[in-house]
Amino acid sequence: MDTPQLDEASQPLADAWQHCLLQAGPAATALLRQVAQDAPPALAQRFYDVLLQDARARRFLSHEQVKDRLQPAMQRWLNQLLCTDAEGVAMAVAAQRVIGDVHARVGIPVDLVTRGARVLKHELFVRVRGLASDADTAFAAIDCLSATMDIAMEGMTLAYTHARERSSRADAAYRLFSLVQNVSTERERQRALLLDWENTLLYTLAGHTCDGEGASLATSEFGLWFTHKGVPSFGESSETQQVSRLVARIDACLVRAKSDDTAQRLAVLPPIREDLATIRSLMTLLFERIGELDAGSDALTNLLNRRFLPTVLRREIELATRNQTPFSLLLLDLDHFKAINDGHGHDAGDRALQHVAALLGQLTRGSDYLFRYGGEEFVVVLVAASESQAMVIAESLRRQIAQSPVSLANGQQLDLSASIGVAAHDGHPDYERLMARADAAMYAAKRGGRNRVVLADATLPDAPGRRALQR
Ligand code: GH3
Ligand code: MG
Ligand code: MG
Repeated sequence: MDTPQLDEASQPLADAWQHCLLQAGPAATALLRQVAQDAPPALAQRFYDVLLQDARARRFLSHEQVKDRLQPAMQRWLNQLLCTDAEGVAMAVAAQRVIGDVHARVGIPVDLVTRGARVLKHELFVRVRGLASDADTAFAAIDCLSATMDIAMEGMTLAYTHARERSSRADAAYRLFSLVQNVSTERERQRALLLDWENTLLYTLAGHTCDGEGASLATSEFGLWFTHKGVPSFGESSETQQVSRLVARIDACLVRAKSDDTAQRLAVLPPIREDLATIRSLMTLLFERIGELDAGSDALTNLLNRRFLPTVLRREIELATRNQTPFSLLLLDLDHFKAINDGHGHDAGDRALQHVAALLGQLTRGSDYLFRYGGEEFVVVLVAASESQAMVIAESLRRQIAQSPVSLANGQQLDLSASIGVAAHDGHPDYERLMARADAAMYAAKRGGRNRVVLADATLPDAPGRRALQR
């Protein structure tokens, strides 16, 4: 058998394991071997008995599975743990990491795993005491057993944490991806699908067909979309949970409504319609939250909603740190925008915002991120751009905005200008600080007379969180 190549994180575990086997000596390790071989069936049983008292654990360990697979697996695990010699240590450590990966994939809470280990440890201690010929050997065996179990847990937790981190990063990326899709089209589509379903239901209950299966809301096009795309896009929240609960309640109601009597069938309609109305208003809320800024205006510019700024900045900071690459951020605020609204009307203001958003799109790369940050404020994340490159881009944005008047509906041309704060990532891990520096620079540009670009540097006060993202 080939000894696996251990990574940086696993090697210390293997070393510690080796060390504790050496320290324990032959009498204690022989005793542990005996414990592993004699005891396991009852031991594994005890382990599952304790764990199955927990409702969360029951979700993972159905009784059938305990009998069929987990019990022998647990026995193999104990054998591996207690019968390992110096040669087998690397293998045993690698195996713990594989187990941790599996736990993460399945979503087993880590506290349940440590609880299981605690139960086992105690049972094994009792057996060691019972079988030991003398107190010294018992102590050495218990010492070794305790350390070995802890090392195994450490290996599992290591893999578990990495796997969870990977998956939450993937979740965030996926959410971001799904949100860039067209929110308003999707909202209308889902609203129509839900209405269709309701109409079909009415038709069915009125006696034209009586097929409960076909009518299920959970398996309808709306239900499927909600579960598979809606929840990941909206993110888990009390509202998404409420929609799921209402969908299940409606379906349960429909099952009960299977009757030959039309009047009886129709009686379920009012509560179902009430639940559907609640679902509709929850959906409106959820779509509003993801798709729109303040007063529903993200649709106006088609730029990213500010709520994804943390996700993007966290990822960019991580990339920049890992790859030693630069990236920069621009905070752009239109000058005297209130005057445009006041002098030419809100529609003119809206038009100006769209005009600027379009300019930003033309003057940046596809890999950059454009956010509508507030009413007339934009954030541009320039990926892989150094401070000097960011200054060049900011200056060209400023110039283009100042040189491209917006055409109003009445044909009038309106001049615009913007003040831009520029901050390059300086290695600090907190994106709030990067934002605060860009913000301070933008305010310096306003104070300096507007229509200008200012670079955040050490001389600017590091105004913490005046525009903290979580405001
Ligand atoms: P400054 O040069 O100091 O930035 O002056 P300003 O007038 O641009 O600054 P202020 O932040 O006080 O005003 C921003 C205005 O932007 C207030 C609000 O009426 C307007 N505004 C915010 N969101 C929208 C929008 O979606 N559409 C329109 N038309 N106007 C908006
Ligand atoms: Mg402003
Ligand atoms: Mg302004």
